[in-house]
Order: sequence, then structure tokens, then C-alpha cells
Amino acid sequence: MRPDDTFDEIVVRVGGMGSAATYHLAERGVDVLGIERYDVPHTHRSSHGESRHRRLPQTKGHEYVPLARRARERWLDLEAETG
Ligand SMILES: Cc1cc2nc3c(=O)[nH]c(=O)nc-3n(C[C@H](O)[C@H](O)[C@H](O)COP(=O)(O)OP(=O)(O)OC[C@H]3O[C@@H](n4cnc5c(N)ncnc54)[C@H](O)[C@@H]3O)c2cc1C
Repeated sequence: MRPDDTFDEIVVRVGGMGSAATYHLAERGVDVLGIERYDVPHTHRSSHGESRHRRLPQTKGHEYVPLARRARERWLDLEAETG
């Protein structure tokens, strides 16, 4: 990267949320730079682990259920795309 490089969007902290944002921006053709202190993905902190849990029942409010369903669909898409 050169000092005069420019980007449409810059995502700082490419963990769980940042990697999703970076991925989907790039997928839509946005010129995006992700800045992460480790590799992407990495084996540190909350982004690390061989398994994740997901739940549809939401204690915060039923309006989150469609978001949880959509997130599950996108996880399965990602799984299929990346193996
Ligand atoms: C042990 C554990 C288990 C969990 N299990 C689950 C689960 O099973 N299911 C679930 O839904 N949620 C789980 N969570 C919660 C989930 O991991 C977090 O809610 C989610 O990762 C938060 O996403 P985030 O992008 O905000 O933060 P993170 O995924 O933590 O990403 C932050 C990123 O910022 C980077 N960063 C920090 N400082 C800098 C810097 N100065 N410069 C550059 N980069 C920087 C970090 O390296 C990291 O990659 C778990 C959390 C923990 C701690």
C-alpha cells in the first residue's frame, strides 16, 4: 500500500463484524481496505474457536429473530463458498 492510496471505505478491526462488513462491501464492488492487527482470520480472542453457537430465541426482542435467521442463511452461504 502506498501513502497516496485511496479507498471508498476503510474498515478498522477485521474481526467478526469487520470481516463481514469488508467481505460484503467488496462483494458489491466497493473499493474497501480492512485494517486488522492480526491475520484475517486469526486465532486470538473472541474471533477464535472451532465452533460457534447461534440461537433464534432472542431475550432482547422478537424483532431480532428475522436478523438471526438471515445471519444463519449467510453463515451457510459462507460455509458453502469457503468450504
Ligand atoms: C470466548 C468467547 C466465545 C464466544 N462465542 C460466541 C459464539 O459461540 N457465538 C456468538 O454469536 N458469539 C460468541 N462470542 C461473542 C462474539 O465473538 C463477539 O460478539 C463478536 O466477535 C464481536 O465482534 P466484533 O467484530 O465486535 O469483535 P471481534 O470479533 O473481537 O473483532 C475485533 C477485531 O479488532 C481487532 N483489533 C483490536 N484492536 C485493534 C487495533 N488497534 N488495530 C487493528 N485491529 C484491532 C482484533 O484483533 C479483532 O480481530 C464469543 C466471545 C468470546 C470472548
